[in-house]
Amino acid sequence: MAINRADATPLCTLAPSPYGCYPRGMWNYCPACGSREIRFDGSHKFSCPGCGLVYYHNTAAATGCVIRSGQGLVFLVRGKEPAKGKLDLPGGFVDPGEGVVEGLLRELREEIGWEPLADTAGGRVPKGLRLFASFPNVYPYRGITYNTCDLFFTLDAPGLREGDLRLQAGEIGGVRFIRPEDLKLEELAFDSTRRALRAWLEMYTRPA
Ligand SMILES: [Zn+2]
Repeated sequence: MAINRADATPLCTLAPSPYGCYPRGMWNYCPACGSREIRFDGSHKFSCPGCGLVYYHNTAAATGCVIRSGQGLVFLVRGKEPAKGKLDLPGGFVDPGEGVVEGLLRELREEIGWEPLADTAGGRVPKGLRLFASFPNVYPYRGITYNTCDLFFTLDAPGLREGDLRLQAGEIGGVRFIRPEDLKLEELAFDSTRRALRAWLEMYTRPA
């Protein structure tokens, strides 16, 4: 696989970003036969007329969870690029072989060392965990842009305190408990998360 950011940038179909713009220029050569005739359909399909290779750079599933504690909503400070230093929700990419809830609970364990729910067998959405919104996002990482479908959950954990959490070294720069009325959406790392928090505030803090 040849990755050439300088050659790829002019062919970009996504909005330019500091990270480059992909996936159009992700491959300059067919990764199977080496032909330069590799074609991109402008969305997510690569094909090679020479050897017949077809590759779909499919949307990846990812999760975020609004955890509401007695001290506020739980946000993580991103410890690495993209958007290092900005706020994010606990969550992340769903791994191959995982269901979306399983992936979320694994991310919670990894990122904050906390597992809220005991009964998670069978791929069911456990009681108390609610899917409230889903938005697309683009996640640039090391020269490749991944299109994601972000699923946003919410969960009440009234007794949760900062001291209950064990943050993942390197990945997480810190944790902040922020009351909904003090939240500044511009401090959030990603557009999909801003849209989700806007929806959450509408749904869960609007006076009855
Ligand atoms: Zn080929």
